[in-house]
Amino acid sequence: MSGNGSGDWTGGCLCGTVRYRLASAPTDAGWCHCRTCQLNSGSPAMAFASVPADAFVVEQGLASIGRVSSSESGERWFCRACGTPLLMRDTSAPATADFSLATLDHPERVTPGFHMFYASRIPWAEPADDLPRYPRSRAEGLS
Ligand SMILES: [Zn+2]
Ligand SMILES: [Zn+2]
Repeated sequence: MSGNGSGDWTGGCLCGTVRYRLASAPTDAGWCHCRTCQLNSGSPAMAFASVPADAFVVEQGLASIGRVSSSESGERWFCRACGTPLLMRDTSAPATADFSLATLDHPERVTPGFHMFYASRIPWAEPADDLPRYPRSRAEGLS
């Protein structure tokens, strides 16, 4: 795989206003089927991956990033010009940020390794994979 060099990890929104770079390779890629991700994305699930919070570097369009409180401790970043969901931050885990995997310029380079909040999946969106399916968070385990 060609994961060498931090400059390789670039991405952005639909309209091109927001561009970002990851200063380190993403980890912990997975699918989230929680209700908040469904509403935030307008899709049955969101694919995301984690980076250290300061490794998500906005290189263009910082002033166009909107932020919405999505839970008691969660905040979602999106492009105010086109609506693309870009990032999720949680004050309970301030060291990391979860970004929308599909917004990478080359999202095929990172493969999700699990499903979480599977208990709230939409029944017609049944994934055809053998990845672990956590009913809620990964910390809460597989049962
Ligand atoms: Zn945009
Ligand atoms: Zn979620």
